[in-house]
Amino acid sequence: SDYSRTDAAPSIGPDHHDGLRYPGPDAPFYLATGNEIAVFETCHARGLPVMLKGPTGCGKTRFVEHMAWRLGRPLVTVACHDDLSASDLTGRYLIRGSDTVWLDGPLTRAARHGALCYLDEIIEARQDTVVVIHPLTDDRRVLPLDKTGEILDAAPGFQLVISYNPGYQHGLKDLKPSTRQRFVALEFAFPSPELEAEIVEHESGIERDRAIALVTLTNRLRQLGDRGLAEVPSTRLIVAAARLVAGNIPVRAACHAALLGPLTDDPELLAAMHDLVTSTM
Ligand code: ADP
Repeated sequence: SDYSRTDAAPSIGPDHHDGLRYPGPDAPFYLATGNEIAVFETCHARGLPVMLKGPTGCGKTRFVEHMAWRLGRPLVTVACHDDLSASDLTGRYLIRGSDTVWLDGPLTRAARHGALCYLDEIIEARQDTVVVIHPLTDDRRVLPLDKTGEILDAAPGFQLVISYNPGYQHGLKDLKPSTRQRFVALEFAFPSPELEAEIVEHESGIERDRAIALVTLTNRLRQLGDRGLAEVPSTRLIVAAARLVAGNIPVRAACHAALLGPLTDDPELLAAMHDLVTSTM
């Protein structure tokens, strides 16, 4: 329904206000793997929306957080799912006591405040939800709010960013050409072994040699991808394994728990991957 009752005040953390996350003093750590920072900055300066394509756990979210910091803009993140409605993005009337008040949704808030709006896994959202972003992606940069009659001009600094994982099976879902052709696409892949080891070292605090060993193992596991893994192990999983190792969990146990378990339930595949762990680590 477009009307919902709430008496709960929105939770506001130290760097949160009104659903906007303002960048802190320190840059979120992001290791660039190409010219993505320059392309994104140029898109931001020229009002072009951006699509981040790539597998899960390869640094897309971290990149957006880093760019929000660089550009000094607040960030609004929405995790998309198939129940997400247009009103969830734009806003709705709420009944508070005897009053009816309009509450901006995250997209509206971002447009009003010149924030970066990150729609994560956009493909999970229904097409009738996705179309509400269209008017923000053309030269007019407006957001028509049907329920209030307002036609909101996006504030300077506003930028739409969507992410999308092309390798993952989405069933019948796909992004419509009429949507995807509105975005500049930045392609993300897993970093080269050297860069990936540097990321793992930084994110976990383990020694360089151990980071390299984990990355080498993971790249072997990635080659098993065509043996029935839905997704190959990501940088995120290596970081998780490395954090267990940093917490004194023995390395093989850490690999099993953080690197293999999350990938599959298939006993044969798990056994094959486990063999690789014991012969490598
Ligand atoms: P995605 O949004 O693509 O699913 P994330 O941005 O959440 O992935 O990345 C997962 C984790 O991997 C991050 O929390 C970070 O620890 C690490 N990571 C991946 N790529 C990078 C990178 N280029 N620079 C810094 N950290 C990275």
